[in-house]
Amino acid sequence: MTSRSAIWRATVLTLFPEMFPGPLGVSLAGKALASGLWALEARDIRASATDRHRSVDDTPAGGGPGMVLRADVLAAAIDAADVASDRPTLLMSPRGRPLTQSRVAELAAGSGPLIVCGRFEGIDQRVIEGRGLEEVSIGDYVLSGGEIAALALIDACVRLLPGVMGKLVSGADESFSEGLLEYPQYTRPQEFEGRPIPDILLSGDHARVAAWRRAEAEVLTKARRPDLWAVKINQKPPKNTTDG
Ligand code: SAH
Repeated sequence: MTSRSAIWRATVLTLFPEMFPGPLGVSLAGKALASGLWALEARDIRASATDRHRSVDDTPAGGGPGMVLRADVLAAAIDAADVASDRPTLLMSPRGRPLTQSRVAELAAGSGPLIVCGRFEGIDQRVIEGRGLEEVSIGDYVLSGGEIAALALIDACVRLLPGVMGKLVSGADESFSEGLLEYPQYTRPQEFEGRPIPDILLSGDHARVAAWRRAEAEVLTKARRPDLWAVKINQKPPKNTTDG
């Protein structure tokens, strides 16, 4: 039996449930959590351990350093969470597909993921296969556990939920929303250490401001993220015969 709650929910499986909500308990995400705009459930994987030492890990088959999260314990923890079948089941993992803003937007539009946080050397491959876990990476570096990665993913989703940030999230302008990085931002004072705010931003001419921002976003993206820029320009109407 699955009961679908109307609000977006993140269910996290972790050996350290005390790490949640952590930073998601403050600021706008925290207020939204307290007022029931979204829900967070951190479940202790160790509760599914069966031996008298409550062990959750063991040495890697084939040898090598470190420990691996046991398949039976983790699978039992996933099954005990009993999440609705329409919810994505994710594993935070440096081997996963890198998280993107478009995947975040998809996850935010659904009913919310179950997220498995690895520890030690990672988890037994058979759970990944047997429970159909989607491996998701937050970047090409190695964390000591999946919790901080899960917090990052949940934070990115929660700020997109209706009512969490009000009008603060301007879908159209943010970095990645159109395949571009965001233009530079300024606020008072009008002059800071000899650096003025660009005149055009004070002109009140919305069309010129928009054009300036667009141009700045393109310059930044070309310089810093040629990978994004390549995708962006390939989206434009076909203009030649050579790609790349
Ligand atoms: N031995 C593994 C790394 C294990 S790190 C390897 O080389 O691939 C321990 C746990 O931290 C992982 O199981 C994963 O849940 C989490 N983790 C580490 N780096 C991560 C990253 N870049 N993105 C998402 N999760 C990560």
